[in-house]
Amino acid sequence: MKNRTHKMKKSFCARLFALLILLSPLAVCLAQEQAIIKTTHVAGSVYMLEGRGGNIGVSVGEDGILIVDNQFDNMAPQIEAALADLGKGELKFVLNTHWHGDHTGGNAHFGQKATVLAHENVRERLKNKSGTPKSALPVITFKESSSVHFNGEEIRLLHLGAGHTDGDVIIWFTDSNVIHMGDQFFNGRFPYIDLASGGRVLGYQRNVTKILNALPEGAKIIPGHGPLGDKQDLQSFSTMLMETINPVRQAISQGKTLDQIKAAGVDEKYKAWAVGFINTPRWLQIVYNSLTSER
Ligand SMILES: [Zn+2]
Ligand SMILES: [Zn+2]
Repeated sequence: MKNRTHKMKKSFCARLFALLILLSPLAVCLAQEQAIIKTTHVAGSVYMLEGRGGNIGVSVGEDGILIVDNQFDNMAPQIEAALADLGKGELKFVLNTHWHGDHTGGNAHFGQKATVLAHENVRERLKNKSGTPKSALPVITFKESSSVHFNGEEIRLLHLGAGHTDGDVIIWFTDSNVIHMGDQFFNGRFPYIDLASGGRVLGYQRNVTKILNALPEGAKIIPGHGPLGDKQDLQSFSTMLMETINPVRQAISQGKTLDQIKAAGVDEKYKAWAVGFINTPRWLQIVYNSLTSER
């Protein structure tokens, strides 16, 4: 396992820091600039890059480099540096797990040199977002599944139905035995489910169950957010979904309001799952909104 880091070189903040060392707003600025890329070997030819935004999967080998997702646009130089460290090969393919900016922000940059593949709804949603440059749009799209034969293995892209959004795919590196689940998996934390982009709580839960049931023995799982995981972590996530969604469903059938559901909260053991911007009330609101609109 190897870990490498890349700090931004002469960042704007660093220069600002030299000038205004005593001003307190700098603390915030510096915290934002501490975005570093951590590279971890997952298995076979697959690596995981963690920085600011969704986790990146990388295939490195004789055919060159393929990446799954690419964080925010301003992370591109650091991602480039981390990829250069992994191998001399050229970047040939960029796969998107879904359309959110913390996963596709780098498309505009990396799409100038590599072919971008994604579910057809990813292209539609990016195209409809004002200001999206042409290079950020997927060149190859599909409805259900596709495969890239690269670095000696089949890399499968599978759309399981609406879940986190209506255009998510999971990416399965079949020989390396690694699955990148995108935002269909938040390891150890409540997930964000984007109802406005066609996401659905029950669809999300169903997709997680499908993957859990089909997961090959010993597979490593790259989550959209959170640390590298395995079957046990996905099982805990699935149990959490069941044990936090079911009480909301029950409360709705008893005529409880959203405020009452929020006041009841979640079981004590799930309080630590409130990480980042999806705190417990937000998670319960997503579940409530989805269950009261899904059929
Ligand atoms: Zn994300
Ligand atoms: Zn997302």
